[in-house]
Amino acid sequence: MNNRKGILSVVSGFSGSGKGTIMKQLLEQYPDRYALSISATTRSPRSGEVHGREYFFVPQEEFEAMIRNNALLEYAQYVNHYYGTPRDYVFRQLEMGKDVILEIEIQGALKVKEAYPDTLLLFVTPPDAAELKKRLTGRGTEDEAAIASRLSRAWQEAQGVEEYDYLVVNDSLEECVQEVHGIIQGQHARVREN
Ligand code: 5GP
Repeated sequence: MNNRKGILSVVSGFSGSGKGTIMKQLLEQYPDRYALSISATTRSPRSGEVHGREYFFVPQEEFEAMIRNNALLEYAQYVNHYYGTPRDYVFRQLEMGKDVILEIEIQGALKVKEAYPDTLLLFVTPPDAAELKKRLTGRGTEDEAAIASRLSRAWQEAQGVEEYDYLVVNDSLEECVQEVHGIIQGQHARVREN
């Protein structure tokens, strides 16, 4: 991490919070500034998801080999599946001066913060619980049981939210994108001052 020039940020949020859309917009608007880490996961692709774009979809044995080989910066289990961040990509991008964003859940976020305390933690939330359920259900990719597990997981995650540096309320997409951009770019100035 010594030659690091970019800022490392973690963006978490309930599934259905819209964080994926925010990240997509951020990358589209500032393609030279940001790099989004692509995680490995043992869950199956949803319709429309592409290997190497949304995730690296890998079998459990391959994921376990990545853990053993220390190839993951962090990993966690989320609703019966493994998810993890490939280490090399993140450090290469940071050294090249890119601001790297990890879109990961809370257990992974806290592990990254512990290992690298200057990581910025942002938590994205929909404006209220009714909106959260509407967004989750409206996505149409999950059955009732999966929605219920994700909602209960959302409740657990809410307990850890005070560990985050910023809470971002997603009521307007464009404002949210600019808010996240402002927070991350502001961190460059804060790091320089220290
Ligand atoms: P989904 O199945 O909806 O794509 O993701 C489920 C959860 O896993 C989301 O909260 C997502 O942010 C999180 N996640 C995705 N990739 C990673 C990762 O590499 N590490 C960790 N800890 N969580 C991840």
